[in-house]
Amino acid sequence: MDLTIHQNCPSCGAEIELHEADRLIQCPYCEVKNFMVNRGPLRFVLPDKAPVHIDRSEMFYAPYLRFKGNIYYCKGKYLKYRVIDTTQRGMNSSVLPPSLGLRPQAMRISLVTDTVSGSFFRQTVEARTLLDKASQLTVIDSEDINASFYNRAYIGESLSCIYLPLYIEDGVLYDAVINKPLAHGSSVKTLQRKSDRYHPGWSPHFLATLCPHCGDTLTGEHDSLVLSCHNCHSSWEEKQGGFHSINWQRVVSRHKHMYNLPFWKLQVRSTGVEMNNFAEFLRITNQPLVVQPVHEQMGLAFWIPAFKLKPKTFIRLAKNMTVSQGKLSDGEQTMAKGMHPVTLQRTEAVQALKSVMAEAALNKQRLLPLLPRMRFHSLATELTYLPFFDRGHDFVQEQSGLSLAKSVLRFGRSL
Ligand SMILES: [Zn+2]
Ligand SMILES: [Zn+2]
Repeated sequence: MDLTIHQNCPSCGAEIELHEADRLIQCPYCEVKNFMVNRGPLRFVLPDKAPVHIDRSEMFYAPYLRFKGNIYYCKGKYLKYRVIDTTQRGMNSSVLPPSLGLRPQAMRISLVTDTVSGSFFRQTVEARTLLDKASQLTVIDSEDINASFYNRAYIGESLSCIYLPLYIEDGVLYDAVINKPLAHGSSVKTLQRKSDRYHPGWSPHFLATLCPHCGDTLTGEHDSLVLSCHNCHSSWEEKQGGFHSINWQRVVSRHKHMYNLPFWKLQVRSTGVEMNNFAEFLRITNQPLVVQPVHEQMGLAFWIPAFKLKPKTFIRLAKNMTVSQGKLSDGEQTMAKGMHPVTLQRTEAVQALKSVMAEAALNKQRLLPLLPRMRFHSLATELTYLPFFDRGHDFVQEQSGLSLAKSVLRFGRSL
């Protein structure tokens, strides 16, 4: 489930509505675009309905950790996955509810800013604990498979912190969202001891969307992680608080009105299980293709969608595009109309390599046990846009003929 966030425009202060995955924020009032950058998890607060006589600077905020993402795992001869979307208490306390339930989805939440004057309870549960719990679910899910785990990958995950507002009146601790008592007496005093005031490092900061190379305006959609300059044909990603240019290309089509979908082309070699070229990939995964001399000359690249999709579609598309790479032609650095936003980070794409190997393997029983000793070494990365025909309900890739339902692509924007 996606969250709706209300936030003030960093340029004019008007109140605007955002979605959880939004990074490029265009204000509908002043029309200024800003790119949101955060260090560590984003911090949100639920709206409170505390009575007016409660002094806001005396309020407390309890942390809940929200984890969203997909786990792909290999066990025995199976590649499986699980979608995780969970919010759990971020501190050890028996008086606070273990989870926020559906409240974050049902309410308008806000980013924590310096206007929140109360005290924040310290997060004592580490994010790692949530990952461990999530990975425990894969054990439960696959109990009927009597074999070993060979790989686990977390792809497209995001972690955020949502604070539940609380207040104390006459020694009783209240949940300020629903104004119901939670606890009283000594347990309330223990809670109060470990708290901090707002810290400026908790808030995201905003970058002006100007091309560092030519000064023109960078473009992108609300959820774009990579911004484009259509003037000097460059692509930019945010790193350590600034925009850095990335290698990119677009495979040019002979046809008009094509839709361009981005892929991370990750050129690698593998040790442990030696793979230095595309021919070796085809042999190790037993592809039903005749390996040709040209395949021996081709480097090994994985083609991972640079946009979010449901796990099954994501891994299948990554595998099919990787297997079909011999059909793709070289690209050039020219921007075009109809470029789909990059919504999956390159670092997330890297996590997918072993799962793509597993999906590609015709003989999974033989290949999956090799995964633990496979080590991938990155040689080059390039963001590559591939042209797709618009065929009504589907997009069809020009060179490979692979198709992708539009509904699946739309759904991916809300993941
Ligand atoms: Zn504005
Ligand atoms: Zn430029």
